[in-house]
Amino acid sequence: MKDYFRNIYQAIVTILIGMGVTFRHLFVHAVTIQYPHVKRELPARSRQKLFVNIDDCIGCFQCARACPVDCIMIETVKAGKDEDLGETSNGQKKRLHVVKFDIDMAKCCYCADCVFPCPTECIYMTPDYEFATYDRNSLLLHFAKYSPEQVKALHERQEKEALAKAQAAKIKAAAGTKKPESET
Ligand code: SF4
Ligand code: SF4
Repeated sequence: MKDYFRNIYQAIVTILIGMGVTFRHLFVHAVTIQYPHVKRELPARSRQKLFVNIDDCIGCFQCARACPVDCIMIETVKAGKDEDLGETSNGQKKRLHVVKFDIDMAKCCYCADCVFPCPTECIYMTPDYEFATYDRNSLLLHFAKYSPEQVKALHERQEKEALAKAQAAKIKAAAGTKKPESET
């Protein structure tokens, strides 16, 4: 019987303590916000979704090499002999077609290690942090602008050029080993 009344007493005290805490917060400035209708300003240098300004990318792979989780996938094809790919906005000559530039944001750990080594500052964090999804595939971001047909044509041209170069080297080597008749 004694325990019965003690339990009732403790329940009442606990409720009063809880209500006291609630009551005190009625007079405190609210710290919660009505997200997503209200959004906080992001802190300086906060890290969110990556973006690549592919027109300024020279395909140097520095970002991919710096990535600790290998979530940047780049593929390049050399420009042809007489092909001019122009320059980046900071004046760097473009010598490679960047035919693939994918970032898997599902693997990204937001370290920003890829951002700092970029010589053209074309890979950077955007303020976009609202890209949660049910489909992991949509977290694979594609930045290259080449169609599959264009990529195929570029690869074929590169292979032809490599073959022609190898054949020319072979002919040159054969000519070099052939002794002139006066020496025989
Ligand atoms: S932020 Fe870090 S993990 Fe993400 S792509 Fe860049 S280097 Fe890789
Ligand atoms: S470091 Fe910059 S320029 Fe080099 S491949 Fe990456 S994004 Fe392109």
